[in-house]
Amino acid sequence: TESLSVGELAKKLGREPSEIIKKLFMLGVMATINQELDKDAIELICADYGVEVEEEIKIDVTDLEVYFEQNEEDGADLSERPPVVTIMGHVDHGKTTLLDSIRQTKVTEGEAGGITQHIGAYQVVDNGKKITFLDTPGHAAFTTMRARGAKVTDLTILVVAADDGVMPQTVEAINHAKAAEVPIIVAVNKMDKPTANPDRVMQELTEHGLVPEDWGGDTIFVPVSALKGEGIDTLLEMILLVAEVAELKANPKRRAMGSVIEAQLDKGRGSVATLLVQDGTLHIGDPIVVGNTFGRVRAMVNDIGRRVKEAGPSTPVEITGLNDVPQAGDRFVVFEDEKTARQIGESRSSAAAVENRTEKSRVTLDNLFEQM
Ligand code: GDP
Ligand code: MG
Repeated sequence: TESLSVGELAKKLGREPSEIIKKLFMLGVMATINQELDKDAIELICADYGVEVEEEIKIDVTDLEVYFEQNEEDGADLSERPPVVTIMGHVDHGKTTLLDSIRQTKVTEGEAGGITQHIGAYQVVDNGKKITFLDTPGHAAFTTMRARGAKVTDLTILVVAADDGVMPQTVEAINHAKAAEVPIIVAVNKMDKPTANPDRVMQELTEHGLVPEDWGGDTIFVPVSALKGEGIDTLLEMILLVAEVAELKANPKRRAMGSVIEAQLDKGRGSVATLLVQDGTLHIGDPIVVGNTFGRVRAMVNDIGRRVKEAGPSTPVEITGLNDVPQAGDRFVVFEDEKTARQIGESRSSAAAVENRTEKSRVTLDNLFEQM
């Protein structure tokens, strides 16, 4: 993609332009001094002078998102993408049970033998439309990921137990979602309990700005029993409704970008990372930079443990092939070629090492003051 004119190349090599023109002529290329040379021609000439071409990387290696945006092709081919949903709420109000219940309902409805494996996220299909659920605790998804600049959630389900009402972590969850400008759907859980009091939940949430539609507000409340699997279908319907209004779009035809959901070191497979593709399509073999790591996508496994060759927008996949373990919330971007991915990955990791050292000494100073 980079080019130089004959004159510029001559200057860089410390030669006369006429000499370069002559060489090009010998190579069968008729050129003038202002002619732009492509990468191949530049490399040929340089090789002839015994000079190795070191490509300058002009992008800011600290910001993968900027790179991604700069590389948006003309006439973006936008199409609808599934919503990415997180579940938040006070401890013991039923987040895990709800996630299990949603997955269970759909797995039994879906194809047989779908062994769910834990990769930190999963997808279900409702009325022919996909929904992606992040399986990581909602708070972690918001705090860690947002702290690292990743916005992965399109919508959040706030779980409130009908027998317990609004609790400190409920309020915290509301604040996180509001700060991130993520729409909230309230799941009033544990409706099967005799002590369930959904009116109280609505009353208390109204005080925090979540007013039910029946009361003139615009927050959707869905009564559910995660334990008994009741109300799940309605909840999924509401998710799709909110998603439709949000008009979530992506371009499946471009190179992929997205975020790390979780990552760890596996004894046999090396670095294993669950990525959420947020735009574009990720393929086996793609050269990739993930946070401060890089590599080629070696193998991809989906949320039901099947090997896949590609993953489109809003799809979670587990990949191997990275040189190191990235962190949850890190961004990833696919590059045109492996060489660029490696260069950028390496400079990012050395930049991070420098930052780390600075950070450490700063922390040490802070500690010193704390002790005084
Ligand atoms: P989390 O901390 O928010 O993930 O809550 P869990 O999903 O672990 O649920 C906490 C407890 O509440 C467990 O004992 C669940 O079985 C129970 N629970 C969750 N949902 C329901 C429900 O709809 N009805 C009843 N009766 N119990 C529930
Ligand atoms: Mg839980």
